[in-house]
Amino acid sequence: MQIIERENLTALFESLKKHGYEIVGPTVRDEVVIYDTLNAVEDLPKGWTDEQEKGIYRLKKRDDEALFGYVLSPHTWKKFLYPPKVKLWEAKRQEKSFTITEPQGDGPKYAFLGVRACELAAIAMQDKIFLEGAHIDPIYKERREKSLIIAVNCGQAAKTCFCPSMNSGPKVTSGFDLALTEVCTPYHHYFVVETGTAKGKDVLKDLSLHPAEESAKESARQVVKNAEDQIERTLKTEGLKENLQANAEHPRWNDVADRCLSCANCTMVCPTCFCSTVEDVTDLTGDHAERWRLWDSCFTMDFSHIHGGNIRSSTKGRYRQWMTHKLASWVDQFGVSGCTGCGRCITWCPVGIDITEEVAVIQKQE
Ligand code: SF4
Ligand code: SF4
Repeated sequence: MQIIERENLTALFESLKKHGYEIVGPTVRDEVVIYDTLNAVEDLPKGWTDEQEKGIYRLKKRDDEALFGYVLSPHTWKKFLYPPKVKLWEAKRQEKSFTITEPQGDGPKYAFLGVRACELAAIAMQDKIFLEGAHIDPIYKERREKSLIIAVNCGQAAKTCFCPSMNSGPKVTSGFDLALTEVCTPYHHYFVVETGTAKGKDVLKDLSLHPAEESAKESARQVVKNAEDQIERTLKTEGLKENLQANAEHPRWNDVADRCLSCANCTMVCPTCFCSTVEDVTDLTGDHAERWRLWDSCFTMDFSHIHGGNIRSSTKGRYRQWMTHKLASWVDQFGVSGCTGCGRCITWCPVGIDITEEVAVIQKQE
């Protein structure tokens, strides 16, 4: 393990740029920490933190100048690896035929800075979906292979976090090229760096680093322990798949349907949800056509419309589908749960529906 001093973080940005990466990371916009392109260290959310609860998100000033002192953004890295809107191909008329072209090999080369442990777990899940099945997604594959992941350990947790229940955090353990732990005291502000891959090591080559002494390693362990100690929410996963699959007619589905607005927020902020739809557009002359892929959600009416009608016309059916897929049939499909315990669906549900609470009621009354 090594140390990067806070004042040398600019050198990391420069090295990433020199290696051809577009740096994407946390920044404050419209009173929210979002993930976007960063040009300099000054773009990071210095001195900001977030408060999150059911249906509540609020930025607050910290009493220090930590750069990664927030918990989680409503944005997820899937926005960059699996973009919300992407052109699949375009066709141009040429006399009596069409030429079809697919965009290829021109995807960005991202360095993701500030990836949390639960987000690494989400990326690993999306790898299973897009890279390990019978149908590999070329857009995801290209972006994923080019990308560099710089994880940052959590130093605090939100009230909505439950990553330990899902074995996905708060400590970063795998899936990163570099992992940082930010130690910010009134006397010393630095990052303890762990190298995960040769690609990560390469980026550090030109930086001024020094070995981490035992006291710095201990401070880094305390940072993560602080986050661990703050996590209150839990989700009992033992027997959960069988429990949900045996309870398709549980009365709680009616209860949650009375509260749910079917707005799809929970699926849009979820780092693992991957439903999409396809739209074809043509110009008025008919000489040019395009096919686009867009994020969709199992909460929209059209998503479940097949020949003969809609197979999930009720909110009850849609919420049940979402939660049962995420926590039960996902295990049948991919061998793991589809939830990392990030808590975004709890924070960003406008009516404060809490997946852990809904599960607990169904588990209790089985
Ligand atoms: S279901 Fe909710 S808590 Fe689980 S990964 Fe998705 S947004 Fe996070
Ligand atoms: S659970 Fe909440 S966020 Fe999800 S669709 Fe219903 S109202 Fe919207």
